Amino acid sequence: MTIMNYCPKCAAPLTTKFDGGRERSACPADGCGFIHFGEFSIGCAGVVLQDDRALLVQRGWQPFAGSWQIPGGYVEHDEPLAEAVEREVLEEAGVTAVVRDVLAFRHLLGGPGSTNMYVVFRLELVGGEPKCDGDEIKDVGFFTLPEMERMEAVQGLSKWAIEKALLVPHGRGLLRDHLGPGANRPGWQLFGVPH
Ligand SMILES: [Zn+2]
Repeated sequence: MTIMNYCPKCAAPLTTKFDGGRERSACPADGCGFIHFGEFSIGCAGVVLQDDRALLVQRGWQPFAGSWQIPGGYVEHDEPLAEAVEREVLEEAGVTAVVRDVLAFRHLLGGPGSTNMYVVFRLELVGGEPKCDGDEIKDVGFFTLPEMERMEAVQGLSKWAIEKALLVPHGRGLLRDHLGPGANRPGWQLFGVPH
């Protein structure tokens, strides 16, 4: 857990409070109510298929420079998840694609005090030719599984998700429910098992 001495909401010195079964850093100021639950991040990535080929990007930056993976990145704290993955696919691979369903999520306890959720979507290719900035992303393209076998350093989780996408018809993953509870609430995106 990151050491935090002052309240990020009101700058009062933090004390501790027993909340939800454990001691946590908390703000004692009247009317503030800040409790430090820890640090969380959300990542997203997208499998984009063109027939039996999947879109991959080659990382130009550390960590894992040179390795290939499906396009993706971190979700901004004020950004809807499904828009984040469409943005990342466009930014990293130059391809326009729209979310179809959720293939997987991976929860990871990372460094001290941090935890990450990584959501893998399947997206439908709309248009655009793969292109990249040549810096953060060194190369980009669509590849078959046999081609990936011959490539160096294809990320295991990416390949696993591509195999799922090739085996499971689209629409069989978690689907966005535009009519369910909360449908009219800004910033709300609900995904559930298909009927
Ligand atoms: Zn406070």
